[in-house]
Amino acid sequence: MTAPNQHEEIRQMLSAYLDGELTQGSAQRVRVHLEDCEECRRAFEEMARLQELTKELAFAEPPEARMKDLEKSLSVQAPRRLGWLFVLAGVAAWFIYGTITYIRHWRPPTVEELIGSAVVIGFVLLFVSVAVERLRQLPHDKYRRIEK
Ligand SMILES: [Zn+2]
Repeated sequence: MTAPNQHEEIRQMLSAYLDGELTQGSAQRVRVHLEDCEECRRAFEEMARLQELTKELAFAEPPEARMKDLEKSLSVQAPRRLGWLFVLAGVAAWFIYGTITYIRHWRPPTVEELIGSAVVIGFVLLFVSVAVERLRQLPHDKYRRIEK
């Protein structure tokens, strides 16, 4: 007769045994015990059936579930990313255009140009600070979304 706590021990190893994660010695012990002990064998068969079922579900479901997840993340993230892309591209284009114009027609800058540059530089600084803040808040965003 096996001691009761041995059943407990075997049961705790069943999941790992099913996944083939046990050492050869432990797996051997589980196998021998399952041959002797109907109760544990039933528990094992139950577990194996459950795992089979979850495996089937995992295979059957992902395409649809993943598509929905993808749709969701796209509908939320794509416009936002696109927005940032446009802003970034716009700022970059502005800079390139400004630099080329400046090089082509070099002359001492007028007061209007100096004021214009100050405004542009101010906007860029604001933009950078907002971007940095947004990047820092990203984990928060995820957390908030999960909480809802
Ligand atoms: Zn047992």
